[in-house]
Amino acid sequence: MKQTDASLTVAIAGNPNSGKTTIFNNLTGANQHVGNYPGVTVEKKEGWLDLDGRRLKLVDLPGTYSLSAHSIEEVVARNYIIEQKPDVVIDVVDASNIERNLYLTTQLLELDVPVVLALNMSDQAEKRGIITDHKLLSQLLGVASVPTVGNKKKGMQELLKAAIAVADNQDVYQPFTVNYGKEFEQELETLTQLVEQDNSVIGNCPPRWVALKLLEDDPEVIKKVGQQKTAAAIFAAADESRERLEALLGEAPSAVISDRRYGFISGACSEAVQFSGEKRHSVSDTIDLMLIHPSLGLPIFAFLMWMMFTLTFTLGKMPMEWIEWGVGVLAGFARSVLPEGLLSSLIVDGIIAGVGGVIVFLPNIVLLFLAIAILEDTGYMARAAFVMDRIMHRIGLHGKSFIPMLIGFGCTVPAYMGARIIEDRSDRLVTMHATGFMSCGARLPVYILVCGAFWPENAGNVVFSIYALGVLVAVGTIKLLRGTRFRGMSEPFIMELPPYRVPTVRSLVIHMWERSWMYIRKAGTIILAFSIIMWVLMTFPRLDSYSQDYHVLIDDATASYEVGNMSDTELDSLVTGYESAMAAESIRNSLMGRFGMLIEPAIEPLGFDWRMGVALISGFAAKEVVVSTMGTVYGVGEVDEESGSLRGRLAGDPLYSPLIAYAFLVFVLLYIPCMAAMAVFLRETGSFKELAFQIGYTTGLAWVMAFVVYQGGRLLGLD
Ligand code: GDP
Ligand code: MG
Repeated sequence: MKQTDASLTVAIAGNPNSGKTTIFNNLTGANQHVGNYPGVTVEKKEGWLDLDGRRLKLVDLPGTYSLSAHSIEEVVARNYIIEQKPDVVIDVVDASNIERNLYLTTQLLELDVPVVLALNMSDQAEKRGIITDHKLLSQLLGVASVPTVGNKKKGMQELLKAAIAVADNQDVYQPFTVNYGKEFEQELETLTQLVEQDNSVIGNCPPRWVALKLLEDDPEVIKKVGQQKTAAAIFAAADESRERLEALLGEAPSAVISDRRYGFISGACSEAVQFSGEKRHSVSDTIDLMLIHPSLGLPIFAFLMWMMFTLTFTLGKMPMEWIEWGVGVLAGFARSVLPEGLLSSLIVDGIIAGVGGVIVFLPNIVLLFLAIAILEDTGYMARAAFVMDRIMHRIGLHGKSFIPMLIGFGCTVPAYMGARIIEDRSDRLVTMHATGFMSCGARLPVYILVCGAFWPENAGNVVFSIYALGVLVAVGTIKLLRGTRFRGMSEPFIMELPPYRVPTVRSLVIHMWERSWMYIRKAGTIILAFSIIMWVLMTFPRLDSYSQDYHVLIDDATASYEVGNMSDTELDSLVTGYESAMAAESIRNSLMGRFGMLIEPAIEPLGFDWRMGVALISGFAAKEVVVSTMGTVYGVGEVDEESGSLRGRLAGDPLYSPLIAYAFLVFVLLYIPCMAAMAVFLRETGSFKELAFQIGYTTGLAWVMAFVVYQGGRLLGLD
């Protein structure tokens, strides 16, 4: 018997939405720590609890349906089990969907780890008339099992006890392994022996599991075995085995493997699980008759999405105004207490304006995340993906990809985070590369400004054409990437429709808060840093003398106002005009201005001048900044896109034409969304290569498309 350890490591595995995190939270309470798995961007939740003088360390593994290598989550989960060798794995099984969930269980057992089943959602199962004889199931599978109701904290102590017993090897069960059939087992046996001869690299992996994975063509395992001295012999044997089996069974071994697993589960369930017929037609099924109805499904989905955006933006408006007001007060206060000069300018124009400009969107973000959390936790998101699946398949993606792309119309940052729901990495990357073209809310002020200046009669249609162009480019990008960098279609994924649930407030709040906090953190780090950098670039080197002595001019104006020759408004507009002209001169002299002029040759073919270049560069920080930068470069005090001054300035500029303006809009639409989005992109993909591709592709495409618009338009005589 194994000696009892003072401390135990307990990993929690299971399908997504089976209730892992709920059980993890129940067991660990506040003793949690969230981090990332090394090298990848999958979130790692760890926690601990003390029981009978022993410390239990718990890890909430990423949710997976399987332990193949189709997604990062699967690789992370299984590597954790293989490398960290937890003392016991709690496999959280959704008892209302038991056959599907046990698929993962068969694979955990093959990894030779001690497993205990938490038959969670047993309340749901009961409601739907699914009754599991858990003792019988335990005997059939050879693992201990405990019925639980995660959100009611039922069965938690029993689960812990069972887990500890399993870890201490004091339970009565002997794990069952799936038998893959006579011929198959023979090949497996031969391969297993070969693998066993050299375990220098595969280390902790059970040899039979490695052999099985070789037959399954698992890329990760093949990579690992490839580092062994005996690799060549093993690969040759595996290839032979695979061919023999395929010829014999008429199917790829991987298909045989999953068939056998399902067959095994289905056998176990037909003995241990009872379905009482009359209750099977559950409330969920009835609701689904409508929500995924072939013709009703899409309009309902469209309506819900419309509601989501309308609500987030209308409800968010008021708190947004409060924050704007607060930022204004703070800026005013800082300006009044700090002596006029560089420090004051840095804090007010740089930091408060930059970070404040981002924080004002927080209410929208929080509300959007709340809406998404509700849709996810109730089970509707899965239906939405189901409804969109057919349409998305035509362009080479799954229904799930639709959700982040939709969120992209609001803001690209949560959209990238929303792409987490896509399990397959290459699907997720294709989706993320396309998502940035869904024109986000921050670009709208730029469109409004430019369209107002050049197409005052037709602004709405022009704006719409830009949005439509974004969608077309996204679709084209998906097709392009599918045909080149991410060839082919990923594993078909099973469209599972989890039962509807009333979400708990606690889980909604946690989901919403986790995501919102990331946004706040970003404002405090990346945006803060970038605001300071932009300020420095637009302030230095400082200009000592201006073309006119503006200070004298302002003094004159004030004097003239004081003797009554001028009204309040006249004075105001004169002073603002002088101040803006000063700002424009100093910006022209600043590093940013010089840089703008330096790159002018590169954007000249698009019809752009250095001022547009500066605006576009500042737009790398955030698209809203394009408008405020234009205000500064064009020397207009009022940068409010509603008011006419900047608009008038643009429309009246002899260098510009509607054609150039349209090329400019196309550029703004297509080049990278913003710094924050890129930082999140990097975080989510964990790949500098993909980030470089994303930046290069979008910016390159922006240039090319703007070029085509401008030069093409000129050829057609539109200029
Ligand atoms: P995870 O993806 O496996 O981490 O799943 P979560 O722990 O986030 O749970 C998903 C949803 O199921 C949440 O809304 C939980 O409140 C809910 N939930 C968890 N356990 C149970 C249960 O036993 N019964 C019911 N009805 N709901 C549960
Ligand atoms: Mg979870």
